[in-house]
Amino acid sequence: MLLFTPGPTPVPANVRNAMAGETIHHRTPEFEAIFAEAREKLFALMQTDEVVMLASTGTGAMEAAVTNLCAKKLLNVNAGKFGERFGKIAKAHGLGNIELKYEWDTPAKVEDVMEALEKESDIDAVAIQISESAGGLRHPVEEIAKAIKSKYPDVMVIADGITAVGVEKIDVTHIDALIAGSQKALMLPPGLAIVGLSQAAIQKIGEGKGYYFNLASEIKKQRQNTTAYTAATTLIIGLREILVTIEQNGGLEKLYTDTQKRAQGVRAAIQALGLHIYPKSPANSMTTIDDVHAKEIRDILKKEFGVNVAGGQDHLKGKIFRINQMGLIEPYEAAWVVNAVELALDKLGRRSYEGTANKIFNETLYKVKQ
Ligand SMILES: *Cc1c(COP(=O)(O)O)cnc(C)c1O
Repeated sequence: MLLFTPGPTPVPANVRNAMAGETIHHRTPEFEAIFAEAREKLFALMQTDEVVMLASTGTGAMEAAVTNLCAKKLLNVNAGKFGERFGKIAKAHGLGNIELKYEWDTPAKVEDVMEALEKESDIDAVAIQISESAGGLRHPVEEIAKAIKSKYPDVMVIADGITAVGVEKIDVTHIDALIAGSQKALMLPPGLAIVGLSQAAIQKIGEGKGYYFNLASEIKKQRQNTTAYTAATTLIIGLREILVTIEQNGGLEKLYTDTQKRAQGVRAAIQALGLHIYPKSPANSMTTIDDVHAKEIRDILKKEFGVNVAGGQDHLKGKIFRINQMGLIEPYEAAWVVNAVELALDKLGRRSYEGTANKIFNETLYKVKQ
């Protein structure tokens, strides 16, 4: 079965093998060397002033960023399940919360964020997804962050990059916390989260907040290549391995270019079949299609072509399907997926098969413009 869901993503064989060794103790020079290497490579990936790894899923890092960087009121952009989650975290911790709500296909507007900040002077942090996975939507986060910082330099900008880090180069100039998670673009099993921090964020964190998710204790320990509590040794060994693998495959720039090309190719192929791309500003992390036959297409893909793609949640349940683009994916796998979608449409009597999807996909990837 081809796992083509936007998280979890398949773990490459060499990474699985690297994680299959005997458990090593976390307070040893042996593990600290691995930790140091993973940490150094993370700086290249995140491009932030500091990075910390947390033994939790991505949501734990979202919670850590909110509790450590927001003291009064959080403004969160909600254009999907994950944006909504930031507001729930703020409320669970007794913080004030203002929510900017959008339909799941609609990117946030700079003016809306600025207007909300204008109205509520006690907002001290803004949280937004770079890629909102609920609808495969790309928010203009860099633009929003820049506008916030130009007028409210003390407001912390928290960017959930769980389906963006490892997909594309992110300009972190105006971002205070950049969040990543293991089981999406990093091609690892779930259970490890990463927070990249700016100098301003480190200042604001001070002594830190909370206990397990106290970022001050983690920063202190991780600068010494260890963790405050037991490190997720196996996942960190896997992280080091996948970051080495990315380097061996031509590095981050190549990963970003390949991902972009493949995402473009799949979008073009899907549109050539007469299908509709759901988000108004699609992220390159996944291709989301809204369609009356979304459920039937998914079922056919799974049963007849061995392809597992994701559906939708809440009001989009049964109305969309999402094809993963994150990670080191062979073009022939993506070609198989778009071809299977075309065959599914044929089976549903929507159009007769003529190999259009593969033609357009391959042309987008390989046809050199003269
Ligand atoms: C998957 C995801 C999360 C949540 O991560 P968990 O690992 O399930 O806690 C948060 N934000 C985005 C954008 C995601 O795609």
